[in-house]
Amino acid sequence: MSFSSLGLTPQLLPTFSQLGYESPTPIQTEAIPAILAGRDVMGIAKTGSGKTASFVAPIIHQLASQPLAKHRQPTVLVLVPTRELAEQVQQVFVDFAPAISERLICRAVYGGVSINRQMQAVSRVNVLVATPGRLIDLVGKNAIKLDKISTLVIDEADKLLNLGFRQEIEQVLEQLPAQRQNLLFSATMTANLEPIHESLLNEPAVIKIAEEP
Ligand code: ADP
Ligand code: MG
Repeated sequence: MSFSSLGLTPQLLPTFSQLGYESPTPIQTEAIPAILAGRDVMGIAKTGSGKTASFVAPIIHQLASQPLAKHRQPTVLVLVPTRELAEQVQQVFVDFAPAISERLICRAVYGGVSINRQMQAVSRVNVLVATPGRLIDLVGKNAIKLDKISTLVIDEADKLLNLGFRQEIEQVLEQLPAQRQNLLFSATMTANLEPIHESLLNEPAVIKIAEEP
């Protein structure tokens, strides 16, 4: 299997080589075509299996096929549980974005640091990676509006729920347009994922990568 057979725009292929990715991991092989087809996806694969690029690459592909909106409100939102993950996921967007456009802006916001600079940073942004609490604070301060979001990713969903972010996630969902693509990724399929994936995902492609024995 090769990255060129997954349906991605050829513009993105050099980025995989630059990152040292020679061939797609199993979650990438299955998730990328499903996301490109516009489906909701639930992707379960263990930590370290390459889940980040499995949603970042097809999302960047989708952004390439639409003109950058003048409003510069985010159209892609990724929820993550921690600051470290927010920075990591944002970095992967920053790795892939220039192949499409130098003008695509991808930012991360998270708690534990001053909100003032983040309020500035999110005034013009295409892709927003956020921890739920800080995102709600920024929405409350009118620093950001989520009514243009067309793709939502809930990354590390098991960890988000284990950390008790259920209510915050629900609060964020209320701010989003009903018409959107929903992608949920998790290392494990825990029982507390059940209600959220049922309410969130619309006829999803369910991709579970078994661990090698
Ligand atoms: P997960 O989210 O599943 O825990 P990550 O997306 O953080 O995994 O990826 C784990 C590591 O594997 C990262 O260092 C990433 O750069 C690397 N990686 C991802 N996809 C590939 C690939 N196709 N080939 C080689 N390395 C990869
Ligand atoms: Mg991950």
